[in-house]
Amino acid sequence: MTTQAQAAQKWAIVVHGGAGTIDRGQLRPEQEAAYRAALAKVVEAGATVLDQGGSALDAVETAIHLLEEDPLFNSARGAVFTAEGRIELDASIMDGASLAAGAVAGVTRTRSPLSLARAVMERSPHVMMVGAGADAFSASQGLEQVDPSYFATHRRWRSLENYLKAHDLPVPAKPPGLERPDPANGLAHDEGKHGTVGVVALDLNGDVAAGTSTGGTTGKQWGRVGDSPIIGAGTYASNAACAVSATGAGEYFIRLTVARDIAALVELKGMSLQAAADEVVQNKLTALGGDGGIIAVAPDGQVAWSFNTSGMYRARAAKGEATSIGIYKDEP
Ligand code: ASP
Repeated sequence: MTTQAQAAQKWAIVVHGGAGTIDRGQLRPEQEAAYRAALAKVVEAGATVLDQGGSALDAVETAIHLLEEDPLFNSARGAVFTAEGRIELDASIMDGASLAAGAVAGVTRTRSPLSLARAVMERSPHVMMVGAGADAFSASQGLEQVDPSYFATHRRWRSLENYLKAHDLPVPAKPPGLERPDPANGLAHDEGKHGTVGVVALDLNGDVAAGTSTGGTTGKQWGRVGDSPIIGAGTYASNAACAVSATGAGEYFIRLTVARDIAALVELKGMSLQAAADEVVQNKLTALGGDGGIIAVAPDGQVAWSFNTSGMYRARAAKGEATSIGIYKDEP
């Protein structure tokens, strides 16, 4: 565990916007610029919270809100569609100081699923709520509700059509929302099936936190739940180890309990954060046939990312260090 004296000197934040097939030359210059600008804005917003002494949880929520609102990413507005042409959102958050956690799956009306996950953590006796019950809890807590058409975007609909055609499945009628101009201005990129967002942060108090928010995978069956809202799979945080947020083929991340596994290697084996992340992502995940990546931060200020796809939208910032933004594998 980090001592207060060590901790008092450092804050750090890492952000991801999904991993997948993102090769150089695949993004148009204006698309690449839009993603880099979005990541810069998000990491800066989270960094400002931390630099002013805000909590890791608040930094995670602030940064994820921006990602959820941005139609470039597969979370909340801009989320992918189920095979039935609907949008079902999953999110989770965890506080490394107390091991408190909150998660929601299959919610359809909450503007910020991440804030709903936080409400489950802070205002209910539960850790996880799903479907209609989670939607009802959200409304009862006064969280902003929106018509599901708010989340719909053109690029994700085209991705669904392509996916269903490739799998010889029927294409459902277009849902409401697609008649209005594309909120992403044609700039959203289909990075394969992933595009979840996540943030991990370390605050000046030495506490870490992690959060993840997603629409899941394009063409998923209704009711399917991925790793993002599963504590220990897509999200985990403990001051005894690190905070982790994942993106990728959720079924593999659940079976490997990826986030908790990385924390366990740090906590129990004393591995460095980067070595633990690489062990789980590059070795175990790859061997099982899963693809994706993770971001992580430890209470002593170590930060890491690791992914076995050609790209991952990502950014990091830390007190006294230059902000770093990356998309492709060959970037630092
Ligand atoms: N991990 C998410 C899921 O399986 C998808 C993603 O990362 O884009 O639901």
